[in-house]
Amino acid sequence: MKEQMKGMWHLERETDKAVYLLRVEDNFKKWFPKKVVDGPNEKGSILVEAWFLKKNPLPEILEERVNIPDRKFGGRWKKGSLSFSKARQYMNCPKQYYFSYEKKIISSVSTAMKFGNVAHSVLETIFECDLDAAKPTSYVKALTRRDWEKSKFEFETSERKKGKWDDSKIDEVIDQVLWALANMADGKMDSKNIKKFKPRHAESRVFSKDGLLGGIIDAVFVDENNEIKIVDYKTGKSKEGEIDPDHEFQGWLYAYLASQEFGRLPKSVEFWYLGAQEVKIIDFDEDVIEDLVLSLKETAAEIKNISGSPESSFEARPSEKNCKWCDAKPWCKGYQKMVQDQPWNEEGYGKSVKGVVLDSAKQTGNRPGAAIVKTDDEREILIKGWGASGKLLGSLKKEDSLLCVDVNIQHSDFSGNLEGTVNDPFSIIVNNKILQELM
Ligand code: SF4
Repeated sequence: MKEQMKGMWHLERETDKAVYLLRVEDNFKKWFPKKVVDGPNEKGSILVEAWFLKKNPLPEILEERVNIPDRKFGGRWKKGSLSFSKARQYMNCPKQYYFSYEKKIISSVSTAMKFGNVAHSVLETIFECDLDAAKPTSYVKALTRRDWEKSKFEFETSERKKGKWDDSKIDEVIDQVLWALANMADGKMDSKNIKKFKPRHAESRVFSKDGLLGGIIDAVFVDENNEIKIVDYKTGKSKEGEIDPDHEFQGWLYAYLASQEFGRLPKSVEFWYLGAQEVKIIDFDEDVIEDLVLSLKETAAEIKNISGSPESSFEARPSEKNCKWCDAKPWCKGYQKMVQDQPWNEEGYGKSVKGVVLDSAKQTGNRPGAAIVKTDDEREILIKGWGASGKLLGSLKKEDSLLCVDVNIQHSDFSGNLEGTVNDPFSIIVNNKILQELM
């Protein structure tokens, strides 16, 4: 059954298999597979398979038509400058730095990260829009929709995605952006106020004069007294009543970089937690910043020296805190040694299960791929997964020696037994080899 899509549509582009359509009323654009579409005819009407629309619902037509600028590509990064995230990785665990930047393992992509990217991108591009031509809210919606589609595609096609894309979250992202704009515009979020209070620089790349350190500052505000305020948007959770020490260090580094770039220390550095709709102000003084900069520059020099060395030169510092979100677990022997002595047989995230495969079942329709594993402590556990993980689990052979890192263990509602779920295909290690890398 086909369904008429609301609004008038215009054909923008066409390939052998797909059409790129523009909805005339609000300039919304989307690719459709040709096989689900009839039209548009000369009147702009278009019919689409109802099942496709159910799976990929279209956003409501905006109340006004907006022209949005192309996404900007940020300025160039000064080669060799150390960013805060690189420095933090190296200081926490040099081995993690090695895997990320020397070996360049494939990073995992989470939905939370992608939603955060959308919010950042909209908060950068909104100031490029013609705010006299339409309402800021219309621009926010149109920009978010466009960046949402792009991020969704990147997520869905990523080799190492974590979690499941949830289109309903787009409204949360729109709310986050609107909150940030209202906060900027003194609570009155109209075009006049946004233009008046908008940042002097958005996504500004700033570097120390010697080029050793660099950062990207989300928003730099300059007031009528020429005082600078720096704002960094955070889309993750904020700890109640305290400032994450990592955020504090980042704020101090940005204060220093701003002083190098703009010739004076900022009056304030703030973190805006978009999800919690909360502002946290970082305290700093020149001595604190001087100490931090000294240690970061020492780290930069150390990294320069060690760069290009073999893996064994990079120390591993396994600990629950360091390894919790580390992408390198499947490659990291230090981590695997640490977790092998830990019990798997309790509920929780990030467990490791080691044993011999007794049986496996391929993923079908609504059944995940799965393997039954006899663990080193002579127990049996069912490990399952969807997508690439499910495919790999279903391909395991009897007697394969299996190590799964990053398993979520839970009681099954169905069997009452403990069962494991694997989301990351790279976390399935068979006979000491990461199976995904052999595919
Ligand atoms: S898993 Fe832990 S020890 Fe290994 S690289 Fe990552 S943080 Fe370091």
